[in-house]
Amino acid sequence: MHKVEELISEKDIAAKVTAMGSLISKDFKDKDFMVVSVLKGSFIFTADLVRNIDLPLEIAFISASSYDGETTTSSGNLKIRCDIDISVENKTVLLVEDIVDTGLTISRLKDYLYKKGAECVKICTIFDKPDRRKIEVDVDYCGFVIPNEFVVGYGLDYNNKYRNLKNLCKITI
Ligand code: 5GP
Repeated sequence: MHKVEELISEKDIAAKVTAMGSLISKDFKDKDFMVVSVLKGSFIFTADLVRNIDLPLEIAFISASSYDGETTTSSGNLKIRCDIDISVENKTVLLVEDIVDTGLTISRLKDYLYKKGAECVKICTIFDKPDRRKIEVDVDYCGFVIPNEFVVGYGLDYNNKYRNLKNLCKITI
């Protein structure tokens, strides 16, 4: 059995997501605004966040993985498994991620959306592990900075399990 210990409670996550939603509602007022949610990990965060954003918005999902290799630039090495089904052209995009770790996936996705014609792409993550960065990333909205531990819950998995935990936990394998 794996040892699973709480790092952030359900209550603290909910309070943070409410605050992030309010801030985003202010910042994105009057914008042609679209949320792009990075699957699978951010599906729970996205569902909570968008219900705390008091603006009309579109939502699309993208599934991608980045592989190692070139780490000094954010281009290339991105595999899109499932692409967005709504155009981002000339839109302001809020790219919603579960966790920023090395930063490679989110930077490459940001570039990808700009290449597809987005006017502006902002990054929003519920968890951030800055100690592991391989590339500089401007995180515009961050819920919690967490230590360099492997975490599960609130959408994040280990071997496709634990996504349904309501809190964020550290897992010892
Ligand atoms: P990156 O290293 O490109 O910033 O992060 C890529 C992906 O790795 C994240 O979107 C997330 O799916 C996964 N990841 C990074 N750190 C963790 C972690 O601590 N727990 C889990 N479950 N996934 C992680």
